[in-house]
Amino acid sequence: MLRTHTCGELSLGHVGLHVTLCGWVQKIRDKGAISWLDLRDRYGLTQLILEEGITTPEILQLARLLGREYIIQVQGIVIERSAKNQNMPTGDIEIRVNALDILNAAKTPPFLIEDKIDAGEELRMQYRYLDLRRNPLKNNLLLRHQVMQQTRAYLDTHQFVEIETPMLIKSTPEGARDFVVPTRLQQGQFYALPQSPQLFKQLLMVAGLDRYYQLARCFRDEDLRADRQPEFTQIDCELSFVTQEDILATFEGFIQSLFQQIKNHALAPFHRMTYAEAMQRYGTDKPDLRFGFPFVELTRLVQGQGFQVFNAAQLVVGICVPAAADYTRKQLDELTDFTKQLTGGAQGLVYVRYHLDGNLKSSVDKFYDQAHLSSWAKAMQAQPGYLLLILAGETQATRHALSALRLKLGHDLGLCDPTKFAPVWVVDFPLLTWDSTTKRYQATHHPFTAPKLEDIPLLENKPEAIRANAYDLVINGVEIGGGSIRIHDRSLQEKVFNLLGFSPEAARQQFGFLMDAFEYGAPPHGGIAFGLDRLCAVLDGEDSIRSFIAFPKNNAGRDVMIKAPASVTDEQLRELGIRL
Ligand code: ASP
Repeated sequence: MLRTHTCGELSLGHVGLHVTLCGWVQKIRDKGAISWLDLRDRYGLTQLILEEGITTPEILQLARLLGREYIIQVQGIVIERSAKNQNMPTGDIEIRVNALDILNAAKTPPFLIEDKIDAGEELRMQYRYLDLRRNPLKNNLLLRHQVMQQTRAYLDTHQFVEIETPMLIKSTPEGARDFVVPTRLQQGQFYALPQSPQLFKQLLMVAGLDRYYQLARCFRDEDLRADRQPEFTQIDCELSFVTQEDILATFEGFIQSLFQQIKNHALAPFHRMTYAEAMQRYGTDKPDLRFGFPFVELTRLVQGQGFQVFNAAQLVVGICVPAAADYTRKQLDELTDFTKQLTGGAQGLVYVRYHLDGNLKSSVDKFYDQAHLSSWAKAMQAQPGYLLLILAGETQATRHALSALRLKLGHDLGLCDPTKFAPVWVVDFPLLTWDSTTKRYQATHHPFTAPKLEDIPLLENKPEAIRANAYDLVINGVEIGGGSIRIHDRSLQEKVFNLLGFSPEAARQQFGFLMDAFEYGAPPHGGIAFGLDRLCAVLDGEDSIRSFIAFPKNNAGRDVMIKAPASVTDEQLRELGIRL
């Protein structure tokens, strides 16, 4: 090896030892007769000292050539520092250098290799290999590594087998758009990259593997939104002979063990909430439960008093915020503007200030007297000092708007503490969702999800009311994972395809292999997949998944370092039969 130690491990116990270190020059402090140099590697920083009269003139001369990020190899003696630095693990010692080699020179990097910098993200992504030298990003990759190791350990002890499934598969019209891959050998035919290993993991259950997992790369050619990556990693799992309860228990244990081992944080048993309840109380299937402010529906209570906006509304719903009755006019206007920007049919924000003296003052005093307002306050369990915020309109849009307002208040009031974790299983998703643009049902989760047994009779005439054995794990308002119990019966699968608008031929053509497999002894099975990138971000209290991916794409789906996607030559296109 080119070194005897790393830059992060030497301490007083090593004083007197002759060592060899390698690393990057972090900083040079030249004080004339003495100069100090911080040497950095993945493990930390070690201070080197060069002194006229002690260090040889050749070394001093060589040292003068050094610049930031040069790579050097030094030999020297570990000595005790006179001025110790308690803030760094190697702060008690320094190395008196007696040999120096420049292993590689470095240009001045386009931004500083320090923990806090203000370089733009695009520049940092272009020089990702330099950005990854900085502690915050390096530590993110180490955290991700730990999560992957712990995942493997947990699943291994629970009898899961790690199995790889193919990357070159077949395009299907379900779900998001596929990335398609042409092939030279079969012109006019295309592979697709997997959106998830869903069908393969189900086939592994038919194959009798019983418990499968994979840290699977998935690809979705979706419209880009902030912080969405076209390729991402799932912790993908499938189990045979289990109920939904077994799956929730196994993976609650998994997430708890991750938080324990990585954050030293004991998570209490997870909340459970049905999809219907989540929508009704929080207006979203991803509620952030680090804070309260549940919705209270007021429709009946407020209608019939001459206030047209409420009278015409499908839903009138509010939240109340403690200690906010004295919000200024300006603050309230800001909240109103915020809700107005949201799309959909929610009408203007109505507020009621519940003053400490018990007086209620609202933006709709023209229509409602004290007795009315106090009945609202009572329904919302508001107390003096609270601010009541109410929206009205079409149900979905109103819930959506109030949910956004609730989250905004949570953030504004500092209730979204990144060191707090509020996991919740959202269960009983609807099997189907009506898509008003295509005028057909879509699978809420995916077409392989099983309906609840007791809801199967609704398949014939009330499909939208069917609940699925599907579940999501949400932590702090972020969907961390989701899965379902699957259909394992050919005729039920055919029925669901039919509801989703597949003709029998189309279903056979797309998914015939799966339905055939169901006829050769398919066990009852189910599974779940967690977004690894997102899980790391949540564990670290971060918003962005990009900083947990070594080489991510930017918001336009581009890799600005290698400059992908890029065009290919006409020759390649001809070989692929894409251009003649
Ligand atoms: N394949 C599903 C997904 O990617 C997860 C699952 O049902 O296991 O969302």
